[in-house]
Amino acid sequence: MLRWAEIYLNRLKNNYNSLKKFTGRKKIIAVVKANAYGHGSVPVSLFLERETDVDMFAVATIDEGKELREGGVKSPILVMSNPLIEGVDEVKELNLTPVVFDFESLEIAVKNGIGFHLKVDTGMGRLGFLPYQWESVLEKLDFSLLKGVMSHFADSDTDVEFTRYQYNMFIPLIKKVLSVKKVAVHIDNSGAVPLSLDGLLTHSRIGLALYGSKPYPDFPVPVEQVMEVKSKVIDVKTLPPDWGVSYGRTYITRKSEKIAVVAFGYADGFIRSLSNNWQVKINGCFAPVIGRICMDMTVVSVERIDTKVGDEVVITDRALTFDKMAEKAGTISYEIMCDISPRVKRIFFEREDGKILSRF
Ligand SMILES: *Cc1c(COP(=O)(O)O)cnc(C)c1O
Repeated sequence: MLRWAEIYLNRLKNNYNSLKKFTGRKKIIAVVKANAYGHGSVPVSLFLERETDVDMFAVATIDEGKELREGGVKSPILVMSNPLIEGVDEVKELNLTPVVFDFESLEIAVKNGIGFHLKVDTGMGRLGFLPYQWESVLEKLDFSLLKGVMSHFADSDTDVEFTRYQYNMFIPLIKKVLSVKKVAVHIDNSGAVPLSLDGLLTHSRIGLALYGSKPYPDFPVPVEQVMEVKSKVIDVKTLPPDWGVSYGRTYITRKSEKIAVVAFGYADGFIRSLSNNWQVKINGCFAPVIGRICMDMTVVSVERIDTKVGDEVVITDRALTFDKMAEKAGTISYEIMCDISPRVKRIFFEREDGKILSRF
């Protein structure tokens, strides 16, 4: 195996417990869309179901919900995009809980007797009923099918003031709904967890931070990166002086230089903008990426590193994090995690030492 990702479920559990402390008394909705941000949605969900008091899972699509059900997940599964135009029958068969966010999806849910969470827009400007519609929604609402009300923060990682403004806008609606029926109420995402918004909220919807990435640099909840991505050296050689490296010859050796070819490229999820802009670890030493990242391979400089073909290469781990990678690549860690491709085999561990392979 030349490329793989080690998933440390013990860290996932620690992250869960740390986050739970900050949310106050709220229950957790673990967001496992996009294959649990690349970590493997079935193993991650089954592990959380077994080892924590997770209350619910959230995915984006019916297929993601189906995968969880077929994998044996029993908890409620919230489907957050538009499952009701995707397939009402499957939503019913799989016992998925759709998010309803406009009059069309509300009508489909009611006509088919499907329990749902109602989503309102408090400033995200994406899915959700806008404030001017709330009155008429409440008038039309079939409370027997209503299981939750939710909204979504637009800027919880950078703007506390706007986040509180959104929450305050949400409160009157929550109060009206709760005066009729006790349902789940949620708006938090990872970035909002440290605000410990309390009172009427019953759940926090958490994705990113569960996987150990910080929504912002001084995020106060201690979390540790769950995934470590590894590869192997497939060639070592010394290039002559003034020799170009990789496509476009963006790196030229000055003197003779020892290089290693690593079996990891953008088809594996190595963001190409990290070309000449990242360091991997080989035998505990940093080896800078030189030249452009290719589809299946990347060249690194190993001038003073003792290395040979077959040596393990760390692309990212809990010290050399996705957060650092994202900063260098000018993107967000979410995108990098989601980009770790299916050809990178996921291996699951439940302990740090001894490396006990999980039963998944
Ligand atoms: C993805 C998503 C979340 C999780 O956000 P994180 O920042 O990863 O915690 C929560 N709510 C909705 C609606 C989402 O789409």
